[in-house]
Amino acid sequence: MPTPEAPRVILFTDLDGTLLDHDTYQPGPATVAVERLVRAEIPVVFCSAKTVAEQRALARALGLHPGLIAENGAAVSLPPGFAGLASGVERTFGLRYEEVRGAIAEVAESLGCSVRGYGDMSRAEVAAVTGLDLDAARRAMDRCCTETLVELVGADPESFARSLEARGLRLQRGARFWTVQGPHDKGRAVRWVETWLRDRGTTPTTCGVGDADNDLEMLAAVDHPFLVRRPDGSWADLRLPRLRRLSGIGPAGFAEAVEVILAEVSGP
Ligand SMILES: [Mg+2]
Repeated sequence: MPTPEAPRVILFTDLDGTLLDHDTYQPGPATVAVERLVRAEIPVVFCSAKTVAEQRALARALGLHPGLIAENGAAVSLPPGFAGLASGVERTFGLRYEEVRGAIAEVAESLGCSVRGYGDMSRAEVAAVTGLDLDAARRAMDRCCTETLVELVGADPESFARSLEARGLRLQRGARFWTVQGPHDKGRAVRWVETWLRDRGTTPTTCGVGDADNDLEMLAAVDHPFLVRRPDGSWADLRLPRLRRLSGIGPAGFAEAVEVILAEVSGP
């Protein structure tokens, strides 16, 4: 049976470029919006490429107790008390980090190219290439199921991607680096959370906010998808029924989405 605290609405959100500014990684105008969500008792689920450790640090900084979908859908962590439910859950999907690293090494050897991932680097080296401090670098390196490649030399990315695909892995180009991951995505993880809640008698209306192509599956999995603007003022080229394009860039767009959700979706 649903508990009296069962939420009517739940919000899944991307982080970089959505809840966090693309360049400063700060929530800025989204901070007040997050406080409004807390007051309205709307549970939030972070859904991004960041690791669980990185998402937890951000949640602490925002004073939030969100659900977490980390590493592009590879790991789900819902804390006890999430959505009014007593017990939480942790789940991972796809391949383990060591398996992903092993496949990358095999592909690099077969193509005769050289790659360098976080797992090949010291914390100081990761801090130097990312601009993160040492603690943040440690959290970025605390990976369960995906690897970040900072260098791919001696093979074109398309052939590298094809060889990875033959092993059940995907290569994704990020803003600065590549990510190698197993056959999981944000949308599958969102649907898994929805099913987990439904099995416990909770069927909230779902909202999602994102900024980029890699949010497509997440946005396709929710009832109310929102797209914020990118720093150059454009929207990612996503075609989805019901997709609402917001005028704000990044966190300003996130704040707009919260405005709409409180006014039109969550009701009085
Ligand atoms: Mg993003």
